[in-house]
Amino acid sequence: MTLASPLRKIHSLGRRFHQARMIARALKSRDHPILAHIIPVRRCNLACAYCNEYDKVSVHVPTAEMLRRIDLLSALGTEIITFSGGEPLLHPDLDELIQRIRSHRRIATLITNGILLSPERIRQLNRAGLEHLQISIDNVLPDEISKKSLKVLDKKLEWLREYADFDVSINSVVGAGVEHPQDALVITRRALELGFETTVGAIHDGGGQLRPLPDADRTVYEQIQKERKPGFWAFAYDNLFQRNLVSGQPNDWQCRAGSRYLYICEDGLVHYCSQQRGYPAIPLEKYTAEDLEREYWSKKPCAPYCTVSCVHRVAMIDLVREDPRAALTKFFPPPAHGEPAQFPLGVKFLSSLFLPPENGKVQSRATKAMAGAVKTVLGIR
Ligand code: SF4
Ligand code: SF4
Repeated sequence: MTLASPLRKIHSLGRRFHQARMIARALKSRDHPILAHIIPVRRCNLACAYCNEYDKVSVHVPTAEMLRRIDLLSALGTEIITFSGGEPLLHPDLDELIQRIRSHRRIATLITNGILLSPERIRQLNRAGLEHLQISIDNVLPDEISKKSLKVLDKKLEWLREYADFDVSINSVVGAGVEHPQDALVITRRALELGFETTVGAIHDGGGQLRPLPDADRTVYEQIQKERKPGFWAFAYDNLFQRNLVSGQPNDWQCRAGSRYLYICEDGLVHYCSQQRGYPAIPLEKYTAEDLEREYWSKKPCAPYCTVSCVHRVAMIDLVREDPRAALTKFFPPPAHGEPAQFPLGVKFLSSLFLPPENGKVQSRATKAMAGAVKTVLGIR
């Protein structure tokens, strides 16, 4: 039986509240990681030709050790803990691990190839308290490069729509090596039809770096952007990072991997990201506030052409934290030279609440009171 619609809405509101609280805390202080990817098993049940993040033989990390790593991440203040792989659903105690994250009042999310999903497995993930699940779909029909195909996964997507009490997002890919660029558009349309969030990524090489995007892929990318009507962060992300990458241009940004983003491999070492394993490669139990501080500032030579979008998104929060008005102008650039930037209504409202007024004006008492009330509700006073 599916969850009654009102109950689903209440759960959805609860997730929005957790996300707002997470962003508020991340904006308030840079002393903790916002997001960590953790690998419960490196083995995968697929073998995508482009992938460097799996093997066919390794056993899962023992449950007691995974629980210890989750506790350590929570002690560092990590807001979101995401299981990645390999294929995380191959871990026999994944639900217990999700429950442990939730017991720390952190956000639990999962990246999966979706092959092992069934109605019962989705219900189990609901019960464990999963809050977000992402599936990346590479093509419409399976080929020798990838079996993560709409044809293979479509039934699973219908089950997710029917039974999932967590947010679902579907990622499609464009870029060199993708045989049928139009597939990304077909996948995005199907995901939108099912009511899921969508993202589109540019394919990267083994070092997380961009390969030049062919014209046909750029056309598809533009069409996807028109149809998916991205929300605030996705729209800002597109303006700030993706448009440059799609045009083959570098990005000028400070990667905060090792500080605001952590990648914990199956051996329990902290790395910058899946594409830069080996740096700094410190055991999680020895990772301290000094390490977080050092890596917040460390320059990564791979940054200009980096395509690791989750680390880009984390960096956006710190841009807002450091200089909110400058960040908003970057996120929503003026339409033409000399014209002022046009911010969406919601952004204008939040700016009026939380930013000091421009041009020396004084914030009204009512606005101050409302800002105070919101901070109290989010627990960041
Ligand atoms: S499903 Fe994911 S982890 Fe497995 S081989 Fe493909 S890309 Fe790699
Ligand atoms: S810039 Fe940062 S996220 Fe991107 S590949 Fe380098 S270390 Fe990883």
